[in-house]
Amino acid sequence: MYKEIDFSRFSSIKIGSKVKVKVIDEIISLPKNFFIIGSANNLLISSSPPPLCILSKKFDYIYQKEDRLIIGGATKSGRIFSFAKRHNLKNFEYLGKLPGTLGGLIKMNAGMKEDEILNTLEEIKTSKSVIKKENISYGYRYCEIDDIVYEGVFKIQKGFDEKKAKLFSDMRKNQPKEPSAGSVFKNPKNDFAGRLIEEVGLKGQRVGDAAFSDIHANFLVNLGQAKFEEALFLIKEAKRRVFEKFGTSLEEEIKIL
Ligand SMILES: Cc1cc2nc3c(=O)[nH]c(=O)nc-3n(C[C@H](O)[C@H](O)[C@H](O)COP(=O)(O)OP(=O)(O)OC[C@H]3O[C@@H](n4cnc5c(N)ncnc54)[C@H](O)[C@@H]3O)c2cc1C
Repeated sequence: MYKEIDFSRFSSIKIGSKVKVKVIDEIISLPKNFFIIGSANNLLISSSPPPLCILSKKFDYIYQKEDRLIIGGATKSGRIFSFAKRHNLKNFEYLGKLPGTLGGLIKMNAGMKEDEILNTLEEIKTSKSVIKKENISYGYRYCEIDDIVYEGVFKIQKGFDEKKAKLFSDMRKNQPKEPSAGSVFKNPKNDFAGRLIEEVGLKGQRVGDAAFSDIHANFLVNLGQAKFEEALFLIKEAKRRVFEKFGTSLEEEIKIL
């Protein structure tokens, strides 16, 4: 089954066109050459992306089983946050303001400050097997999984931390309000991508309707009808200038398709 997704509406950065996306409704391995998407909060999609697939609503669930929390791969961060708050569970406070689905969060090892999704993950379910976290290679904003994440299992710890949730929420107040895909680049070791982009004169720089935000230089924002090519130009320009000036190779956090 396929459904048409208009990425100029669906993706958080509001760039892209209408694309037929394969809907995965049962547990199968990632179809050859396909790219699995979640809720497109970390994607920059061209008008001719590779074949795409997405999990159906069947994988949108969350429940407790003994001392474990079982979450489907298509479950949105907001739902996980609300569930954790309602049931007084800790370690999910940052998800109130971090958009994504469980599959995307795990693949990106998404998080804020020292809280990252892999910290408390116990295992994932893919088409081939259940994989324990100890057997997954992961780090800052990456997790080496080549298959679809259908489910994640977390150990339950009691004590939702309201103060922490407020802290994360307050951190968001300084972020650009325009559509974006979050941080464009990963922070290089002991430095900040935003600082480097600013140093090379690209903070606030606009090409068409795409721009590096004048609030937070590592956010590429859509000021209206930004096109894929405009966003890509700025990304390449930032990489070139930062490398020429500092010898630092910026690595994209967003996935360009
Ligand atoms: C305003 C804003 C703020 C943000 N702030 C943060 C932040 O503070 N910290 C942070 O870490 N991120 C942040 N992000 C980025 C984004 O929220 C995360 O990367 C999130 O994990 C993306 O989830 P998604 O479901 O939208 O994944 P997508 O963007 O759709 O995909 C991202 C990656 O996950 C993979 N993927 C998706 N679903 C699955 C699946 N079921 N199985 C296997 N792989 C899958 C995709 O193949 C792709 O490689 C922000 C984004 C926005 C728009």
